[in-house]
Amino acid sequence: MKSPLAIAAVLTLSFLTAHAEDKPQSATKNMPKPEVVKSEEEWKKLLTLEQYEVTRGRGTERPFGAIYEEFEKQGEGTYYCVCCGAELFTSKEKFHSGCGWPSFYDSSKAKGVLEKVDNSHGMRRVETVCKRCDAHLGHVFDGESVSANTPTNRRFCINGVALKFVPLGGEAPKLLEVTSDAVQQKKEEVAKEGGVEPKK
Ligand SMILES: [Zn+2]
Repeated sequence: MKSPLAIAAVLTLSFLTAHAEDKPQSATKNMPKPEVVKSEEEWKKLLTLEQYEVTRGRGTERPFGAIYEEFEKQGEGTYYCVCCGAELFTSKEKFHSGCGWPSFYDSSKAKGVLEKVDNSHGMRRVETVCKRCDAHLGHVFDGESVSANTPTNRRFCINGVALKFVPLGGEAPKLLEVTSDAVQQKKEEVAKEGGVEPKK
């Protein structure tokens, strides 16, 4: 007779197999590398403790906090990465999900959000990060009832502390410069893919 543990293991395995082909983006080897790379110490200097813990430490702010209340009141505008200033979302994609964290049904046209499969805490979730600097933003969930009335039926559940809101007509935050290491890395990748670096 199988022990309950063995049965649980089999169930987990079949769950993993059934979901293995869900998303082509789960292949981490094809992930674009962040353009802005900084040491933990450098990030600590640029961010508040809460911003640092969420974006660099992959933490989660508490739901229904002051930032969420502010988010619910914000009008038209754009949401930028609090770390590097990249555009991530706009008020157009915002919707009220009632979950206690800022919710969007899609990223903005700038497509600054990257999705990564996250298997931590015994769950299979899709983590969202800033494509430019790898800041942890939150997670994205598909096909829930709360997002059924949105155009995508997706809920980007985002930590408000990871976002910088600029009202419509306001000045966008300054983009953090691309790290020279990242530039070098990109050059090497191009050289590797193309055999040689294109000369102009
Ligand atoms: Zn960023």
